[in-house]
Amino acid sequence: MKMRPMHRGNTKNRKIRYAVVGLGHLAQVAVLPGFAGATNSELVALVSGDSQKARKVARQYNIDRIYSYNQYEECLGAGIDAVYIVLPNHLHSVFTLRAARAGVHILCEKPMAVSSTECREMIKAARDHKCKLMIAYRLHFEQGNLQAIRMAQSGKFGEVRYFSSDFSQQVVADNVRLTQPTSRGGGPLYDMGVYCINAARYLFRAEPEEVIGTVASVNSPKFAKTDEMVSVVMRFPRERIATFTVSFGAAEMDRYSLVGTKGALTAEPGYEYAGGINLKVQVGEKAQTLKFPKRDQFAAEISYFSDCILKNKDPEPSGEEGLADIRIVEAIYKSVSSGKVVNLGKYEKSKRPSMAQKITKPPHSKPKTIDVESPSGEAA
Ligand code: NDP
Repeated sequence: MKMRPMHRGNTKNRKIRYAVVGLGHLAQVAVLPGFAGATNSELVALVSGDSQKARKVARQYNIDRIYSYNQYEECLGAGIDAVYIVLPNHLHSVFTLRAARAGVHILCEKPMAVSSTECREMIKAARDHKCKLMIAYRLHFEQGNLQAIRMAQSGKFGEVRYFSSDFSQQVVADNVRLTQPTSRGGGPLYDMGVYCINAARYLFRAEPEEVIGTVASVNSPKFAKTDEMVSVVMRFPRERIATFTVSFGAAEMDRYSLVGTKGALTAEPGYEYAGGINLKVQVGEKAQTLKFPKRDQFAAEISYFSDCILKNKDPEPSGEEGLADIRIVEAIYKSVSSGKVVNLGKYEKSKRPSMAQKITKPPHSKPKTIDVESPSGEAA
């Protein structure tokens, strides 16, 4: 018998019950352990294509319900309030649609999907079935990142003029980021580029008007299906520019800078979840470094999403926020293939992250992991 998701009834003092879908690297190092710090949330089921791994993970987290992907609907109908989708990018859309049809709320990893069409379908399905849909932009709740946003808005740097970012890592050939072609969300732009696009958008608090992109890859079988690196220029209203390079074939780099007429900040690392975030702030002769220690950004985003469900609020990193990035990714690839500047057209976006969204959760210790490796090939 199908159980009613509890969000339809009285939600006072209740916990949102989640199924985590996909037990890969991120799920095991960050998402599953994040539930311990999200006190309004409860991890009750796992969905995986690997039953042996799932059984071991279930034992570790004391969970007695395991489902295969074919049994997803059964899972959705068994008293689950929300799913946290941690699957490869090309599966975000289909697993979101299936959850929405079952009336189950969806927290979906970034990038939201592979195309703007998929994003729109996800938004519509969530709306039609009265489900909350949030894209897991964990940095929207992270203090260091929100501090950078606050400073950019405060006028401290004068008029903010340009943003630049480098984000790279060496990804091993058999990782899903390289085995899936660009058309299915493989490659550094979908994986890392969305962080740079998202950051430029929330720091400028605007949507770009035009983009131009270029790609480059060494001649290696590793980059047969997708690009090694992508470089992008985005032109924002008021004559502002954002540039970034993302790469799967270069040493680890994780930084962005925001430069204004009177000062600048550099965040390095700027996008990290496994460590802290540092902001170097320079105004005239005065320089200071602000250090924000490692926090559990996943506990923060899970508890935020549960709170939205419990209080019937619309999450800020909404489907529209995910779509805002993906339509830019699409325009970048259009520019890459045409060699021309691509005009993005108007996109209205009123809600953006601000310090009001800060959620601070203490870090957890390194969890034991089963049969997963990091994108760079290290056993986690
Ligand atoms: P992994 O490849 O490590 O894990 C993906 C998991 O998805 C697999 O382990 C598998 O789990 C499941 N899966 C189902 N179908 C497939 C398929 N066809 N091919 C491969 N795997 C499949 O990826 P990550 O954990 O690194 O990334 C997962 C998602 O999380 C991505 O969307 C990524 O962008 C996002 N991400 C977000 C981060 C953040 O900071 N917010 C950081 C890293 C990733 P099973 O064996 O259980 O079926």
